[in-house]
Amino acid sequence: LFAQHADFMLGVAQLAQLPSTHAVEICFAGRSNVGKSSLINALCGRRDLARTSSTPGRTQQLNFFNIKDRLVFCDQPGYGYAKAPVGEVKKWQEVVFSYLRGRPQLRRAFILIDGRHGIKNTDRPVMEMMDTAAMSYQVIVTKADKVKKSELEKHLSDIAKELAKHPAAHPDILVTSSEKGTGIAEVRATIGRLVSQ
Ligand code: GDP
Repeated sequence: LFAQHADFMLGVAQLAQLPSTHAVEICFAGRSNVGKSSLINALCGRRDLARTSSTPGRTQQLNFFNIKDRLVFCDQPGYGYAKAPVGEVKKWQEVVFSYLRGRPQLRRAFILIDGRHGIKNTDRPVMEMMDTAAMSYQVIVTKADKVKKSELEKHLSDIAKELAKHPAAHPDILVTSSEKGTGIAEVRATIGRLVSQ
């Protein structure tokens, strides 16, 4: 599946613009700088598909990628920067909530968590939103190469404990390093299973 070519499709700022695709869709969410673009690029075997280190607070939009009409990735803008005005943040959250709620082809949301930091306060409303939307989500830990093993283990056990309290959370945590390629095959396999289900 991932040997196939991935293409940027479009950026969507309003629900009316959502692409009318039918392929299985997967979305990615996470704090700014968590390594989301790097992960999407690593999954697709591309260096430049999703922009890395994009300026925080840039135009809020959902970016859609098409993988040979069999799979669609939706990249949510990074959150956690207090730059945007509160009203705008709220409006955007409503867009994301409606997207999560009303997109039948969306099979799973991945929430990316930095292996150095674990779950942060800004991640929690996102997890709660997905619980409320009954959107099945799974944590992908990023930048595993940047943390000591013992520290990573501690974060993983804390994350697991917290996930157990969230009804829509998948209990399995995927651990990755886009830099070293660690865990990329496992994420691909997880997505592959969702596509062939
Ligand atoms: P985004 O804002 O979530 O899209 O994050 P980026 O993918 O742009 O990554 C933010 C920064 O973290 C960049 O400097 C990346 O090179 C770095 N980064 C991303 N993934 C990894 C990783 O697995 N290991 C290491 N060491 N650095 C990473």
